[in-house]
Amino acid sequence: MADLVIIGASYAGTQLALAARANGFAGNITMVGDEPHPPYQRPPLSKAFLRNEVDASSLPLQSPERFAEERITLRTGVTALRIEREGRKVELSDGSEIGYAHLAFTTGARCRTLTCEGAGLGNVHYLRNLADACAIRDAASRSRTAVVIGGGFIGLEVAAALRTLGVEVAVVEMQDRLLQRAVPPLISTFLMRAHAHQGVRFHLSSRVRRLLGHGSVEAIELESGEVIAADMVVAGLGVVPNVELAQACGLVVDNGIVVDRYARTSDPRIVAAGDCAAYPNPWLNAVGQGVGPDRCMRVESIQSANDLARVAAATLAGRATPYEAVPWFWSDQYGYKLQMAGASTGHEQIVLRGDMESGKFTALYLRDGTLIGADTVNRPIDHLAARRLIAARVRPDPMALQDESIPLKSLAAA
Ligand SMILES: Cc1cc2nc3c(=O)[nH]c(=O)nc-3n(C[C@H](O)[C@H](O)[C@H](O)COP(=O)(O)OP(=O)(O)OC[C@H]3O[C@@H](n4cnc5c(N)ncnc54)[C@H](O)[C@@H]3O)c2cc1C
Repeated sequence: MADLVIIGASYAGTQLALAARANGFAGNITMVGDEPHPPYQRPPLSKAFLRNEVDASSLPLQSPERFAEERITLRTGVTALRIEREGRKVELSDGSEIGYAHLAFTTGARCRTLTCEGAGLGNVHYLRNLADACAIRDAASRSRTAVVIGGGFIGLEVAAALRTLGVEVAVVEMQDRLLQRAVPPLISTFLMRAHAHQGVRFHLSSRVRRLLGHGSVEAIELESGEVIAADMVVAGLGVVPNVELAQACGLVVDNGIVVDRYARTSDPRIVAAGDCAAYPNPWLNAVGQGVGPDRCMRVESIQSANDLARVAAATLAGRATPYEAVPWFWSDQYGYKLQMAGASTGHEQIVLRGDMESGKFTALYLRDGTLIGADTVNRPIDHLAARRLIAARVRPDPMALQDESIPLKSLAAA
């Protein structure tokens, strides 16, 4: 019997366990994870790790000593197979069962996969975990050409890493621009130029018809009939939340395990956080990403996983505080650090600070005169300032925003 059982040992699970302790939760905590490793960082898997610049020893999220000090029992290589809510038990793949007083779902998400002809060929990769990253790194060392399917963050980061490793890369994207759901056209264009400068070839507005090869992939065929040679393929098609276990035990699921602003699921003993959870973020709803004030959505980011896990931990410790945060995210491609804060959806005006050609600039998005989002490239100070300004819902003078002699943070008072 554990007072708290956490299913999924990654960002949200680890943060939830540590934050529960920090909130004074005194009971036993057991965290169950189906991967063979203790919790580790995922962002480097498409960045420094893939580029061979760091090895797996740099990835752990916490040391084993920290888990021990905090009296968190970590059971790796074990899958939670079934939840019995009435009896408050979790059945595990090693044949054991754990009883719980409180349960947390931090089961994350898995890659959406190709369904076209040839999808089962060898050397067709996806990237979610350490094993995937090792397989891509290994394939890259034997490949001259690669096709990346999907011009989202994972696809573009993989493309950049493969180029750094000397592989010829073509990116296939069905939309007419990169990162269509995440950034406005000016950022898409900037990144596309950066990749093209590094020799990446793009096939926009293109769909894959099938993968060709004998045993292993050799080429991909587009719906246009064009064939692109590929010694390896990496598909970055987005993710699917791991909700089946929650669904099977009767929790409300709607493109994610539905939770309220306190991270509570439809069962008051059960919380959920991270990529698997859909929550009502009043901030995102207010800027028009949702429909109505309570629409739930999943936000796939480290920030969201950590923040909602802290909220869930506070709820378990009897100190419930609602979640409302300005979302932020980052991506590294070549020498460019793109940092995004807030949302650009629905902006009416863009103010550019700095010069895009220099590779260091900030794009600020305004709606009804209010700052709702900011994308920065190699401008971490502007990113931090923008996060505060967005949270404060400032209505800055666009001329002042543009004026680089005025530090962004000084506009808070405005
Ligand atoms: C390559 C890559 C790069 C990324 N880069 C960035 C970035 O630059 N910035 C950013 O903000 N975000 C980034 N992300 C996204 C970020 O990693 C995720 O948002 C984050 O990992 C979500 O954490 P989580 O704990 O909710 O879920 P996950 O990290 O997905 O972990 C869930 C864990 O639960 C396990 N699990 C699932 N079901 C069960 C079960 N039944 N029993 C036991 N265990 C189970 C899973 O195997 C997994 O280990 C990146 C993701 C990837 C894959």
